[in-house]
Amino acid sequence: MKERPHAAAWRITRIYLIMGCLWILLSDRIVELLAADTAAFRTLSHIKGWLYVGATAALLYTLIKSYLCELETAQHRALQGYHELAAAHQALEDANMKLEEHQEQLRRMAHHDHLTGLPNRRALFQTLSDVLSQEGSCGAVFFTDLDNFKYINDSIGHVAGDELLTRISMRLQEALSPAWHIFRLGGDEFILVLPEAKPLDVEEHARKLHALMGEPFSLKEATVHVTCSTGIALYPAHGNTPENLIKRADIALNRAKDEPASSFAVFDESMEEAMKERLELDQALRMALKKREFTLLYQPQYELATGRISGFEALLRWTRDDGSTVSPAKFIPIAEQSGVIVNIGKWVLSNACRFLRKLHELGYTHLTMSVNVSVLELIHPGYVDKATEIVRSQGLSPQDIELEITESALMESNGLAEAQLFLLKDRGFGIALDDFGTGYSSLNYLRKLPITTLKIDKDFIAAINSSEELSLVGEMIKIGKMMGISVIAEGVEDHSQVEFLTQHHCDKIQGFLFSKPVPEAEAIAKLQAPTA
Ligand code: C2E
Ligand code: MG
Ligand code: MG
Repeated sequence: MKERPHAAAWRITRIYLIMGCLWILLSDRIVELLAADTAAFRTLSHIKGWLYVGATAALLYTLIKSYLCELETAQHRALQGYHELAAAHQALEDANMKLEEHQEQLRRMAHHDHLTGLPNRRALFQTLSDVLSQEGSCGAVFFTDLDNFKYINDSIGHVAGDELLTRISMRLQEALSPAWHIFRLGGDEFILVLPEAKPLDVEEHARKLHALMGEPFSLKEATVHVTCSTGIALYPAHGNTPENLIKRADIALNRAKDEPASSFAVFDESMEEAMKERLELDQALRMALKKREFTLLYQPQYELATGRISGFEALLRWTRDDGSTVSPAKFIPIAEQSGVIVNIGKWVLSNACRFLRKLHELGYTHLTMSVNVSVLELIHPGYVDKATEIVRSQGLSPQDIELEITESALMESNGLAEAQLFLLKDRGFGIALDDFGTGYSSLNYLRKLPITTLKIDKDFIAAINSSEELSLVGEMIKIGKMMGISVIAEGVEDHSQVEFLTQHHCDKIQGFLFSKPVPEAEAIAKLQAPTA
């Protein structure tokens, strides 16, 4: 309805006035014309009066009705408009709510890890910044990662690996007090921040954390045992920015990984230097194969009964382009951590096989070659086929090769390497348990593995003169014999050790007393020399 009330009222009044004036002017004239006498005039005036009332009533009725109808239509439209407006308002509110939910989801995604739901790296930086900005704040940052998670992932598959990470996060959240802030950085790396932690207590906290992780995890497909390593940085002592603290906890973590004796380490300044050197070695190692910086030396192994050389152990040497040498004990763990060990291992096996082939061609067909293998190589997908292919490509058979696996590495792999060992044994490879005695394998464990040679660690041989170790070495040889496994002693350095080993019917010996690891030409010369 477009007309305003006073305009409508004025319109009706105007019509009424016009009609009224017209009526008075016209009706009086008509009555005068029609009335023949006074009686007729009165009658006609009377009728005119009634007609006037009737006509004005009809007129008013029509006008008011039309106005009210318009009013009703306008009201109806207004109501409809109101409903439409209310619906639009509701839709707007719904959209707003969805937007807020979406924003909350985005915020969660930005600050939480999608797999475990734990707060992520971004949240860690935020929390640490907040904690560090509080006056007088002190506490500890624990950088924890799983040992050999790569093995676990490779052997049980990524789905189970993800399940394991989720279960670990749940266990940490359930078991630790709310004082701990737990974050997942990615992969198998977790960071835990404990405000108010006292420096003297942090090692105890780390022990408890490791005990918690040490309980087995029953996954859908398998039960998994994990161990972990932890680097600890304290604030404010080791840094007052999140970057510094995380970096230093990481450096301490690397130290913890290197030290077999302890699975955690608290940062100290000296670690930074070692870390730099390690990083430099890591970079150089990645190029070493291409730059042909590796060579192999061969250390003969002697049969005690006959004194003749029965085979060689190939030992890797790295001479850098500046002429400096790096010991395998130093670079092998770095190569393992970066994964370069897989390619280095292939190179070692190929070259050792090539040399053995040469020796066979020279007529020494009884010789075998022992090659050290890292567990990381062993569990690398396709290792068994690749190793077989390399051996055969040199015209040799797996029976000519003995793969040496260190006992401690095997135990650390939590049984993951076992299946590979059985496959290798089936192909015909010999399997030696290197550094035997240092990993404290239980007899049951030994019985389970397809071992063909026990290699008694040189520390036991060196200590042969102390009566306690002496009886231990005797027991080790006995165990090997009982299980039908060949026994070799490594690190033999003096004649009294040879005497003892002979008396106890050790099968083979290897050590500086007879020969250091030597280049190919010298190894051949040793074969040509009279027996030891
Ligand atoms: P290992 O396999 O137990 O090798 C024996 C180590 O003892 C060698 O050290 C050898 O030079 C040394 N040795 C031999 N006889 C004697 C002795 O009479 N007295 C003493 N004190 N030492 C003796 P090397 O060559 O420095 O190798 C150290 C370790 O590095 C090896 O221990 C092995 O675990 C690892 N390694 C060496 N080459 C390779 C390789 O090609 N691949 C892998 N994965 N590891 C390797
Ligand atoms: Mg060895
Ligand atoms: Mg050894």
